[in-house]
Amino acid sequence: MLMLGPQERRRIWEQVFASVEGYVSGVDGLPVAPELDPIGLRALLEPFDFEQPLAPLEAIDFAARGLTRYQVHAPHPRYFGLFNPAPSTMGIAADTLVAAFNPQLAAWSHSPFAAEIEAHLVRAFGARFGYDPGAVDGTFTGGGAEANHTALLTALIGRFPEIDEAGLRAVAGQPVFYTSSESHHSLVKASRACGLGTAALHEVACDNRFRLDPSALSAALVRDRQAGLHPFMVVATAGTTAAGIVDPLREIGDVAAAEGLWYHVDAAWGGAAALVPELRPLLDGIERADSITFDAHKFLSVPMGASLYLTRHRDILGRTFRIETGYMPRDAAALEVVDPYVHSMQWSRRFIGLKVFLTLAVAGWEGYAATIRRQTAMGDRLRARLRESGWDVVNDTPLPVVCFQDLRTPRGRTHEFVGQIARRVVSSGQAWISPAQVGPMPVLRACVTNFRTGPEHVDALVQALDEARSGLAASTPGQEG
Ligand SMILES: *Cc1c(COP(=O)(O)O)cnc(C)c1O
Repeated sequence: MLMLGPQERRRIWEQVFASVEGYVSGVDGLPVAPELDPIGLRALLEPFDFEQPLAPLEAIDFAARGLTRYQVHAPHPRYFGLFNPAPSTMGIAADTLVAAFNPQLAAWSHSPFAAEIEAHLVRAFGARFGYDPGAVDGTFTGGGAEANHTALLTALIGRFPEIDEAGLRAVAGQPVFYTSSESHHSLVKASRACGLGTAALHEVACDNRFRLDPSALSAALVRDRQAGLHPFMVVATAGTTAAGIVDPLREIGDVAAAEGLWYHVDAAWGGAAALVPELRPLLDGIERADSITFDAHKFLSVPMGASLYLTRHRDILGRTFRIETGYMPRDAAALEVVDPYVHSMQWSRRFIGLKVFLTLAVAGWEGYAATIRRQTAMGDRLRARLRESGWDVVNDTPLPVVCFQDLRTPRGRTHEFVGQIARRVVSSGQAWISPAQVGPMPVLRACVTNFRTGPEHVDALVQALDEARSGLAASTPGQEG
C-alpha cells in the first residue's frame, strides 16, 4: 500500500516535478498573498474522512492546487517579507533526495556521508565567521529558534557545570541573561523552556540607532549583581528581525570577556554579511562570540528548515547533550567520530546540511556573494525610491530591510496608518509587506528576501504603496478598521 508500483511511481514523480516546475516558473503570475479563509479551507478538507482511498495523482493534484491557492508566496519576487526565501534549485533537489534516501542523522555510523558533509559545513561556515577551523564545532538545527535554545543550554552548562546533574536549583541565585529590546523573541521561549522563566531574560536599553548599548549592559550587570542575581550570558543580534540592525559586536564582546559572560551572537539573518567582503566589517568582533546562530533558510535561500549553531568550544555540545544508551550503535569512539545525537537537541534527525552543501557547491562562495550583493543593491534602490516618493526611512543598516513611515502627517506614524497601508498593499495582490515596530515606532517593513527581486519589482512595490496612501487619504478617517 505504501510502496506503489514502478509504473505508478514514474507517473507520480513526473507529476510532482511538473507541479514543481509549474510553480517555480509561474509563481510571478500569482497574487502574492491569498485571501485568508479558514472556513472555506475546512470545507475543502471536510470530504476527507479517509474511508475511500484517493488515486495518487489526484491526491498530488489536490496538494499542489491547495499550496498554490492558499499560501503567501514567499518565492514570489514581490514578496518583501519576513526573511522567508525563494528556495534555491539545488536546495529543492537536495531535499527531494533526502526524503527518498532518508538518512538518519542520529548515529554517525548509520549515515557517515551525511554526517561528514554536515561536519565539513560546520568548519567551513565557522571559518567564514572567523573561528579557528581546527577548534570550531557546531550542529545543524531546524531553525534559529532551536539554535538560540541550544545556545542558552550550552551557556548554562558552560557557566554552571553543576546544573548538569542537580538542575538550576544548584545555582545559589537566579541566573539571568541579557539582550536588547530589539532581539528575537525565540529567546523568551528558550528561557521558559530551560526552566529559567521569562523574567531571567533582561532587556538592555538601545542607543538612538536601536543597537544594544554596551554601557547600559555594564550598568545592568552592576545593579543585578548587587541584587544577588547571577548574570551568565549576553546575546547580541547581528541583523535584528524588524530592522536589520547590527549590535556593536566588538564592544559587547569586551563587556562579556571582562564580566565572564557567555557571549552569543544571533546572526540568524545578518550573518550572511560574512559571505560578502564589503559587508564583512559589519560583523567585526563576531569571531569572539562563544556561539553563533546562523539560519541557512533565510539569506542563504535553502528550503526550510536549516540553521546552524556554531561554537569555538569543542567540548561544549558534548557536555550539554551527551547520553549513554544500550540500544544506540557504539562504534563512534573506535572510529574517532562524533555521533550527532550526543551533540544536539534532536535525536532522530533529517539530513539538513545537504541543501546547503549542494547549493554552495554549485554556486560557490562567489555565487552567494553576488546574490547577497544584488539583494543589498535592491534594498538600496528601495530606500532611494521610497525617499523620492516622500516616505521616511527610519532604520540605519546596509542590509536590505527597510523600515519607513510617512512623516508628513502625524497620522503617518501611527499603528493605525501603517496597518492600513500594509493591508491595502497585501490585498491588492501586488506585493507583500508588513507592519512592524522599531523601538517605540510603528513602521512599514519591506525586506528584499528574494534573490529574484529586481528593479521592476521594487518599483512596483513603491507604486503599490503610493496608491495605498492616496486611497487611504481619499477615504474617511476612521472608516477602516
Ligand atoms: C528568524 C530569526 C530567529 C528565529 O529563527 P527561525 O529560523 O525562525 O527559528 C532568531 N533570531 C533572529 C534574529 C531571527 O531573525
